Amino acid sequence: MPGPRIDLHTHSSASDGTDSPGALMAAAAAAGLDVVALTDHDTTAGWSAAAAALPPGLTLVPGAEISCTAGGTSVHVLGYLFDPAEPELAAALARMRESRVGRAARMVDLLAADGHQVTWERVRTIAAGTVGRPHVAQALVEAGLVRDVAGAFDRRWIGAGGRYWVGREELDAVAAVRLVAAAGGVTVFAHPRASRRGPTVDDGVIEELAAAGLAGLEADHVDHDPESSAGLRRLAGRLGLLVTGSSDYHGTGKEVRLGAHLTAPDVLAELVRRASGCAVSAA
Ligand code: AMP
Ligand code: ZN
Ligand code: FE
Ligand code: FE
Repeated sequence: MPGPRIDLHTHSSASDGTDSPGALMAAAAAAGLDVVALTDHDTTAGWSAAAAALPPGLTLVPGAEISCTAGGTSVHVLGYLFDPAEPELAAALARMRESRVGRAARMVDLLAADGHQVTWERVRTIAAGTVGRPHVAQALVEAGLVRDVAGAFDRRWIGAGGRYWVGREELDAVAAVRLVAAAGGVTVFAHPRASRRGPTVDDGVIEELAAAGLAGLEADHVDHDPESSAGLRRLAGRLGLLVTGSSDYHGTGKEVRLGAHLTAPDVLAELVRRASGCAVSAA
């Protein structure tokens, strides 16, 4: 009998995914998953709707993908099973969401100043929760300026360092690892070798995060080639870190399917064992 199918990284419309949290749970069950983590960018806003919509047999691991900086590079830290009401972490997440609003509005201003038909009102309507570049990208698609969302992630538009790109606040990754731990949660470094998205950190930075309490590395991810995944497994072995795999599903905004990469049951069990901030939910 095949083991449980566990996908520890997905996005809903609480950030830049296109499925509502409830629809995402239904899609996870339809995709044959047994466990799914909801990890919206810098928010826990989707947790309760997801838990309320759980189909029988599906377990939800509540989480968030935190926008961080490490060694001068933008990185993402996945936090799982933390207490969403812990004040310091909740305040840090709120600060980052606010910074995302100002930054998206500035990107729209820059676009409008060049005569592009993109409005803040439209972007705000597209973004149901945490606003991100995919929402601005969608507005660019609607205005006929780019062919698809991916087309907007180009230096001519809002790709990193691009003409209309604006940076945003990020939490120091070591601080994020400690904040999540203080809120009873556990952390996994998301797609550490996703070089297609921009520069990545060297092993020394990961070592520093491990020393701060990082639990694992997301080795299996659509943006990793087999060589990077293998390198991350070796590094994890050397540093005593767990290894996860996940889809980073975003709905129709990105091509990857739910369950495209999976996490081993013993790894999930260990994450759950180390966490005390909240529990997994099941219907
Ligand atoms: P932000 O956090 O607002 O800077 O936006 C980053 C988000 O854009 C991440 O969730 C990525 O999944 C998404 N993203 C990054 N590169 C691309 C791309 N080439 N195509 C589609 N989505 C992307
Ligand atoms: Zn995203
Ligand atoms: Fe990410
Ligand atoms: Fe993600």
